[in-house]
Amino acid sequence: MLNLVLFGPPGAGKGTQSEKLIQQYNLIHLSTGDLLRSQIAAGTELGLQAKQLMDQGLLVPDEVVIGMIDFKLQESQSSPASATNYVGGFIFDGFPRTVPQAQALDQLLARYGTQITTMVALVVDDEELIRRLLKRGETSGRPDDQNEVLIRRRVTEYNDKTKPVADYYAQQGKYVAIDGIGDIETIFEAICGTILKANVGAK
Ligand code: AMP
Repeated sequence: MLNLVLFGPPGAGKGTQSEKLIQQYNLIHLSTGDLLRSQIAAGTELGLQAKQLMDQGLLVPDEVVIGMIDFKLQESQSSPASATNYVGGFIFDGFPRTVPQAQALDQLLARYGTQITTMVALVVDDEELIRRLLKRGETSGRPDDQNEVLIRRRVTEYNDKTKPVADYYAQQGKYVAIDGIGDIETIFEAICGTILKANVGAK
């Protein structure tokens, strides 16, 4: 199995690269941001509580996102792959965002006898991120993309709470940084090259 953590600050291009990677490797996409937004759209209690934090550019509590990932992993087990819907693994997008989330993910995957293959970090400087997110806000309809103060808070949350997750995977020898500025195809090829190396000798 190929289990990939696609890592990077908001606006680094994780969504764009995820779409390409899913096609290339038949991965199931697990984005906690998307899962939270669908809870908001469905008007659930969880969605309403998460929205208050998301609208302030703050992280939602670990147990909420860990619970959602746990549910999705269980769900994928109950609809096993067939010849027509071969599943190559999972791509985690926007998760884990804290060290406790990374630890929980290791434990969840161990239950299924698998593990993270590699973490690919897209590196983009803060000012470029702010530019990209403000531009995305013109069309994305996401409230958290439309206000520079909120965008800066999300980038700060990333620098304070999420960056240490990179060290967690580095300690396991699974961290690879890729320049996230440039042509989409060039970045995609660099990620594929990393995956090829990580998969050599992987279970
Ligand atoms: P994203 O779509 O990944 O940019 O996430 C949008 C917002 O959802 C973030 O700013 C957080 O408020 C929340 N969120 C998404 N994923 C997580 C996570 N793994 N941990 C905590 N909060 C999250």
